[in-house]
Amino acid sequence: MRLDKFLADAGIGSRKEVKQLLKKNLVTVNDRLVKDGKTQVDEYADSVFFAGEQVAYQRFYYYLLHKPQGVISATEDKRDQTVIDLLKEEDYREDLFPVGRLDKDTEGLLLLTNDGQLAHQLLSPKKHVDKEYFAEIEGLVTEADVQQFAAGFALTNGEQVKPSELWIKATDERNETSEIHLIIQEGKFHQVKRMFEAVGKKVTYLKRLRMGSLVLEEELALGAYRPLTETELQELK
Ligand code: URA
Repeated sequence: MRLDKFLADAGIGSRKEVKQLLKKNLVTVNDRLVKDGKTQVDEYADSVFFAGEQVAYQRFYYYLLHKPQGVISATEDKRDQTVIDLLKEEDYREDLFPVGRLDKDTEGLLLLTNDGQLAHQLLSPKKHVDKEYFAEIEGLVTEADVQQFAAGFALTNGEQVKPSELWIKATDERNETSEIHLIIQEGKFHQVKRMFEAVGKKVTYLKRLRMGSLVLEEELALGAYRPLTETELQELK
């Protein structure tokens, strides 16, 4: 592969930045100074150094982010902070994007990656990937709701949702509120909120806990992120 692609993939900078860095005599391949980004390198056999440090080749990056409220699931925005803005400078890459969307006021697990194929696999309706949520609800969630969710039903605009698994974790009869867990396999716009709206209730707090085999651990602080482990990645693919 081309040296400029190798360096950009490895997170040294964008292709444009890499071109400038090459001009500054900062890159060697097998101990020879190289200035031309078009130089071919073998990403696994050649020894590439940047500013005196060996560069390990990495094509794809995967981060599990604990998305806080108030941040939007986009790569850039003029007004709001985005999930990409939460990355530290050393982890930022221009090709990273969130896999799917959580609403601005939804918290929880969000995968950031530059692996389009995996993202497609996780988001494809045909793959039926579980998305598990915890929610606080205004209104008492009932066994009838559990049955209705299990059967699948129509939202208020007539759109049909597939069967889902709903558990009532707690109810407060006095305040008429409930805490639930819900597993859905679809990813319609505002789906969880609209499902409860269809049964006359309101989601007041929403958090995604799991996507497929990927689980948000309690120790990961709001706004924090970490790379996926090898095992997590293998299980996800
Ligand atoms: N369903 C919603 O309503 N909002 C989200 O952010 C995710 C699922």
